[in-house]
Amino acid sequence: MNLLCPSACVHCKQEAEAPLCNACFQELELLDPEGRCVKCFHEINQLQGVCPTCRQKSSPIRRLAACFEGLGAAGSFLAEYKTYGRIELARDIAAFMVLQLERLHWPTPDILVPIPLHWTRRFIRGFNQSEEIAKALSSMLSIPMQRLLKRQSSGFSSSQLSHEQRQALPKDIFTWRQEVAIEEKNILLLDDAIVTGTTLRCGADTLQEGSPRAVYALTFTI
Ligand SMILES: [Zn+2]
Ligand SMILES: [Zn+2]
Repeated sequence: MNLLCPSACVHCKQEAEAPLCNACFQELELLDPEGRCVKCFHEINQLQGVCPTCRQKSSPIRRLAACFEGLGAAGSFLAEYKTYGRIELARDIAAFMVLQLERLHWPTPDILVPIPLHWTRRFIRGFNQSEEIAKALSSMLSIPMQRLLKRQSSGFSSSQLSHEQRQALPKDIFTWRQEVAIEEKNILLLDDAIVTGTTLRCGADTLQEGSPRAVYALTFTI
């Protein structure tokens, strides 16, 4: 919460009732899945398909998408949610995800799985941003959320690492909690943002142990 000016837009800092003023809210336009790679969601020169980079490597993620670019009003909105622990904003984020899912025409997921935080980071932040989004989405879509992944690493934030360090991350930073059978299930993996996609790929890779039908991944920003 902004203590100096409690009713300021989180993006432009102008006076506003809602987290975003009208002008900044209007700026929020869902990214069009057409013209983006179905595997990494980066822009490509065709309506549909896979970019040259993704064509060269296999991925445990069947499809990946995001709602908004990380810069701009959506990025400020997400920062407000995470940095100031405004958990109530998870519902707005989930609502945009519902709209984006409608445009993606993916099969209806059987289980929603949030990317976990290491417990030390969760302790410091007080909540897991991905899990709160997954909970809100779960109640909107009436699809169960399951904490199927457990984080193994020491709790660094991947945004604090260099590109090379992120690429060198061990693949097994997650373990799969086996109490829920996921065989032949469609899984929707959820995170707040894509930085490089490494975390989502590691999570999806770990879930392959349970032989799901497919793993899809959706984030708020890219
Ligand atoms: Zn504004
Ligand atoms: Zn790609």
